[in-house]
Amino acid sequence: MQYAVLMYSTSVPFFEEVRMDTVLRAEELVGFASFEEIAELPGFMPENPLTQKNYMQILGWYRLSEKRSCCVQRTSGTLCATPHNHGWVARLRDGSITILGSNCAKEKFGADSTVFRDIGLAQNIKKAREREKRIAQLVAEGARYEARLQDWIIQLKASYHGVDDFLRGVGERFRSRIEQMAKTGRADVVVEGEIVRRYEKRGRSKQEIRIIKHRLGSLAGLSAVDKSQFVTMVAEMEQIKSAFAELRGGMQIGRKEKAKLSTRLEQCESVLTRGRLLTEEAARFLANSALLYCFLTEDRSERARLARLAMKEAGVDGNKDQAKGWFADQENLIRAEIRAERIRIAR
Ligand SMILES: [Zn+2]
Repeated sequence: MQYAVLMYSTSVPFFEEVRMDTVLRAEELVGFASFEEIAELPGFMPENPLTQKNYMQILGWYRLSEKRSCCVQRTSGTLCATPHNHGWVARLRDGSITILGSNCAKEKFGADSTVFRDIGLAQNIKKAREREKRIAQLVAEGARYEARLQDWIIQLKASYHGVDDFLRGVGERFRSRIEQMAKTGRADVVVEGEIVRRYEKRGRSKQEIRIIKHRLGSLAGLSAVDKSQFVTMVAEMEQIKSAFAELRGGMQIGRKEKAKLSTRLEQCESVLTRGRLLTEEAARFLANSALLYCFLTEDRSERARLARLAMKEAGVDGNKDQAKGWFADQENLIRAEIRAERIRIAR
């Protein structure tokens, strides 16, 4: 008998390969978890040499806590003997059974050998089974996942509304400046300072003006300004949530549909992680200093709102006019620090 032929179809089976040949059936492949299970197989012989010629079929895979010596026979006649925790169990043409290390077939017999090709097919079956198991676990924990998804949907919406309410509350010009910064990824808040040097020349007083750029700080969480990511993520979570509900529902679902729903389930952990990161980003954005924001808009009323907010952040109480005065003091401090006569918003 030659190497096993496995037929795959994307539409028919649900994670299960149909084997047309009779040497070995996908469902007959065994995962061995202890060496005793292998040693108990009728026909198993320790140090039983495996060659390309005497190989017949793969019976399954092993994953052991201890290492076992590989029985692939070298061209010199000795055994490979590399110790492996995982590898494959094979039947030989004489009916006896042996083991080989995980990557030894490729190394010793080459990628186009029957042994290696069989292992490739067995590996796919192993992966498909592991996936099926994973899906089953996810479905079993479905109620918990659905609840978590629902929590994060609420959190994400709240996060976005937090950002949106803040931007809307300040004004359109400020908002478009922030959106522009988010798009370009430039988070620095910079002011321009006018440095004036006065001097005398032939009895006449002269002045020389120099403009310097001064970085006040940098905004955090800017990427949370983009609404589309929240919308996409919430939609993704809703889809996964309903996939859980459908798979848990015990209704008759076609294989194709089941495979599609399963793929969604597998994205659950990753979308939950991304959801958490996005809300953290939004929180970072909302924690930016309002004083920095004041230097992003030339609109008087927007600035007044931001100045009031900045004053409040600084722990000072006061009305709109007091905020104006407070902000002028802050500007003066910056001017003094960089020795500028005037400062203005950098474009
Ligand atoms: Zn080996």
